[in-house]
Amino acid sequence: MKTSALFKQKRVLSFEVFPPKQSGSVESFYSTVEELKDLAPDFISVTSGAGGSENNTETLEIASTIKNKYGIESVVHLPGINLDKKEALKVLDDLKNAGIENILALRGDENPTFTPKNDFKHASDLISFIEDNGDFNIIAACYPENHLECPTAIEDIHNLKYKVDAGTNQLITQLFFDNSYFYDFRERAAIAGIDVPIEAGIMPVVNKRQIERMVSLCGVDLPKKFLSIINTFENNPEALLEAGIAYAVDQIVDLTANGVDGIHLYTMNNPYITRRIYESISTLLTS
Ligand code: FAD
Repeated sequence: MKTSALFKQKRVLSFEVFPPKQSGSVESFYSTVEELKDLAPDFISVTSGAGGSENNTETLEIASTIKNKYGIESVVHLPGINLDKKEALKVLDDLKNAGIENILALRGDENPTFTPKNDFKHASDLISFIEDNGDFNIIAACYPENHLECPTAIEDIHNLKYKVDAGTNQLITQLFFDNSYFYDFRERAAIAGIDVPIEAGIMPVVNKRQIERMVSLCGVDLPKKFLSIINTFENNPEALLEAGIAYAVDQIVDLTANGVDGIHLYTMNNPYITRRIYESISTLLTS
């Protein structure tokens, strides 16, 4: 099923997982998927490193298992930075053969382990290519606080409009901790004529290292309320876990009350935290 169709029926709840870091942990990875399945997400998306075909193969295998064995709709993340057109065609062919209908088309980030190829300089190039070479539902990333490389919010929205005009049917946001960024972004998007559903990406933050990593990678703002929580509970892991879950739930309650199209939970492959959040929000999502 093309996941963009879901938004016509309901407020969508989706989960994001990443492939296991070591090959030995595949079993425990799939037990995580089993637990996530019990929460009946509308779809699960699987990340992929920007390094090229090896990452894509692993992601494809997992997405295919999620769909064909566990019966949950899946989305493959596909960074284009290290693909050429021939390789991209092969990926599309493999996806089609595996019955995968949904692609989150990304540019990806440069990484010391590879030299970027030039066929897909921006995600919009990959989106046009997918649109011309298959019948996929295309999803794209967006940034309520602007992409790190983009100097202004207006320019970032213009670039997002290219992606939507190129064939994107659905958007998922970068994580954020202050909902006002999301509301302002949604308004800018509407003014720019972007009318596809936008899912809010929410990450429950439950340890300090995770926060430091997120800030350095994504440059997201940490609001005062959030910082007080971290500073108060940083040496008490159990309290920080509870506070992190409560903070994410609070964000989702507010987003739901303000008409969000869907919630995309960055699960960090942690079924316990995902379940705790789900138990607090499942009734809201259906209202
Ligand atoms: P783009 O849309 O190409 O944007 C990148 C920058 O270029 C922005 O500053 C934009 O304003 C600018 N730009 C875009 N188009 C143009 C244009 N035509 N002309 C000039 N400037 C332009 N990374 C991974 O490697 N693997 C993953 O699985 C993954 N999953 C993600 C999931 C989500 C929901 C999100 C939000 C991000 C994810 N990322 C992932 C990270 C993503 O690859 C990076 O944020 C990357 O830096 C940008 O990717 P993009 O697709 O948004 O790029």
